[in-house]
This record gives sequence, structure tokens and C-alpha cells, in this order.
Amino acid sequence: MGIYNRILKKSLWVFHVSASPCNNCDIEILDLLTPGYDLERFGIKLVGSIRHADVLLITGMGGCKISERVIRLYNQAPKPIFVVAVGTCPIGGATFKDSYSRCGPLDKLIPVDLYIPGCPPKPETMIEGLLRLLGRLD
Ligand code: SF4
Repeated sequence: MGIYNRILKKSLWVFHVSASPCNNCDIEILDLLTPGYDLERFGIKLVGSIRHADVLLITGMGGCKISERVIRLYNQAPKPIFVVAVGTCPIGGATFKDSYSRCGPLDKLIPVDLYIPGCPPKPETMIEGLLRLLGRLD
């Protein structure tokens, strides 16, 4: 089945959580919504409630205070929920790896389905990662 058929078959609704990032990854995610990248053409859209989400998209190094909320959001999400870690922060901490307030990596807190590395990753890389996730839904 071609990629476009897969996209038309199922759209991904994404809830974004900013878990103590430097905000560059978040700005790249905002780029995805601009006409230049137009994420919604793939049927992928950001939603305002975890209750409507297929994907939990997380940026940041996982500060200890936000980590509790990340776990709570994961527990509140309808299952199955796909967890996507964006940037080097949720994997290895990036600039914050030796921070006293880091409780990551993210996969110590909740299961992660997809890592999109980069500091920050380019919007094209994020689109490719999300489309690969769509491919796994078949
Ligand atoms: S991965 Fe890099 S760009 Fe993204 S939030 Fe962490 S430090 Fe910032």
C-alpha cells in the first residue's frame, strides 16, 4: 500500500508536551504547522487534549517536576497511545545531561515508541518520523 493511501486511511492526532526543553525543539514543531511544511496535509494535526490523542509528542530533558505530569498524562491517554520523543534531550539530556533537576531519560518514565534525535531535529526529520509511525499502524 502506498504511503498516501496509508495517510488517507488513518490520521494521527498529536498532543505535544514540553517537558523542560530549551524551546528550540518546540519552535521546530511550530514550524511544522506553517504553510512551508503544512503537517496537516498528511492528516497529522495537533490537538489540545490528551483524551483525543493518538500520539504523545514530548520535547525536553524531563525535569523532575514535569516528569510527574508526563506520567499522569500518559496514564490519562486513551490506549494505544504512541509516545514520540523529539530531540536529543529526552534521550540523553543534551545540554542538560548533568542537570540536578533532570529525572529523564524519558524511557525511564514511560515507554517510548519512536525517537527523533537532533538538537533540534529539522521539521523534515520529524515529518519522516511521524510518517514511519503511520506506516507501523498498518
Ligand atoms: S534537544 Fe537540543 S534543541 Fe531540543 S530542547 Fe534539547 S537542548 Fe533544546
